[in-house]
Amino acid sequence: MPCEMCGKSAPTRSVMIDGAKLEVCPECARFGDDYKALSSSQSSGQSTGGSRTVIEQRLERREKRMGTKDVYAQAKTVEVIENYGKTIREAREAKGMDLDAFSDSIREKKGTMAKIEANRLVPDDKLIKKIEKALDIKLLETVSSGAGQSTGGGSSGKMTLGDFIKKK
Ligand SMILES: [Zn+2]
Repeated sequence: MPCEMCGKSAPTRSVMIDGAKLEVCPECARFGDDYKALSSSQSSGQSTGGSRTVIEQRLERREKRMGTKDVYAQAKTVEVIENYGKTIREAREAKGMDLDAFSDSIREKKGTMAKIEANRLVPDDKLIKKIEKALDIKLLETVSSGAGQSTGGGSSGKMTLGDFIKKK
């Protein structure tokens, strides 16, 4: 049976790699956890502390080995701006076009454009490109998703226990 990781014909065994069970050769088995050992150690509460760096090292090695990139690095996505409707409407009005003329000029239905300008319909990629070009505006922004974004405000932790007691 060929190894599922490197394709070499060799006696394989089952290992867990990133949560997936694979049949791999002894060489590739080093990159995973023994399948049976993993499932038994989950219940026995053995300390897995400090294993994170080992896993990270494994991922790095595996990435180099398999040539996969960007799977873990994609923290940024491109999204339509929040107030796209207003932006479109203002740009259209600045060009002196009413909704009819604008819809005609980009060959879209007036109803569709009205919904978009009311922020009720997010235009698809194709339409975004068309609108951006027609009005010379930008409707997309790069948003970095994931951790590290703390939205300030709403600090309700100022009230102490004493405040509650006084109110009684
Ligand atoms: Zn292999």
